[in-house]
Amino acid sequence: MAQTKEIHLPRLDGLSPTLESTALKLMEEAGELGAAIGKVRGLSGERVVTGEEDAIRRVAEELLDVAQTAVTMMFVLEESYDVQIGEILEAHIEKLIRRGYLKSV
Ligand SMILES: [Mg+2]
Repeated sequence: MAQTKEIHLPRLDGLSPTLESTALKLMEEAGELGAAIGKVRGLSGERVVTGEEDAIRRVAEELLDVAQTAVTMMFVLEESYDVQIGEILEAHIEKLIRRGYLKSV
């Protein structure tokens, strides 16, 4: 049986997100994740001033920003476009198996 990672992220109630705003936010957060990884590795040639542990923590924080934004976009798809994320998730798992990334769940 494949290992899974289960996380629960809230539906935000202080915003009125749209498909466009969440898509832009996702790209912004993905950029911040890339920048955080770049800082760990000093990819831009800058001196690495933060410790490795702090830098890796920053990577994890930015990854959760990406995940939160993805979850927010799922709520937008469900509530504004009547998309059934559960059904799409099943198709997603089947695709992973079909492509050989996963043997079973
Ligand atoms: Mg961020």
